[in-house]
Amino acid sequence: MESECRRPAVPFTNFKFQVSSFNPFTLIELLVVIAIISILMALLLPALYRAKEVAKCIVCAGNLRQIGIAENLYVVDFSPYYNPWEMENGVKWYDNEAFREYMNAPKDNSGYPIGILCANSYAVLHATSNYPGMSRSYGRNHENTRRPEYGDHRSVYIAINAVQSPSIHPLDMDAMAGGETTMNDRGNFVDENNPSDSSKYGATAYRHFNRPVRSSASSANVLYFDMHVQTTLREYLTGKYMDWATETQRIWLYWWK
Ligand SMILES: [Zn+2]
Repeated sequence: MESECRRPAVPFTNFKFQVSSFNPFTLIELLVVIAIISILMALLLPALYRAKEVAKCIVCAGNLRQIGIAENLYVVDFSPYYNPWEMENGVKWYDNEAFREYMNAPKDNSGYPIGILCANSYAVLHATSNYPGMSRSYGRNHENTRRPEYGDHRSVYIAINAVQSPSIHPLDMDAMAGGETTMNDRGNFVDENNPSDSSKYGATAYRHFNRPVRSSASSANVLYFDMHVQTTLREYLTGKYMDWATETQRIWLYWWK
């Protein structure tokens, strides 16, 4: 007599796969499901991109605000001048040790402050710049080409009591800082697709919502002299609302007017 445990296993051939009699998915149904998932992903991905871009934009605005606070503290202690973009000895704004104390950010290998620059600056760097390490910086308003008394425009010292209408004049903003013309009136924008055009280095970089590049949604974060930060559309900064003939709107760079 065979015990229970020694009973031979039921051969697999005794099982019946009921493919033909009951199939929960036909091929057509499977394709429909795949199509629906594809459509849902197509709907969702732009929303995810948008959410990511919003987050980066907010981080950038927060960093600019922190720089603005540091700037204000610096001006109080070293009055009446703001930290210049570059001092006579060639030290850049972020390398000014006195200013760094207020900014309170460690340096990376290139001397740039860690954690306080634009969250999108690395992408711009790798995508476009022939000057690695330079385009990560914010740009500082040292527009003074019409003020010969200031000499080298790179080391302009802006006196706090010389700034007019501080709520409409920018101090710092998203910019490609590889050139000599940061935020001045030459071109007034950087062409992210033509990094070899040196005339555009140092101008505004539209690091936010710029997919596709240079769309009407492309924006730069701007820190104004009154220390408020505003995300500003490219079309506003590049002249749609400006009268190039009379420069009536370009006055926003000219902090002394
Ligand atoms: Zn930014």
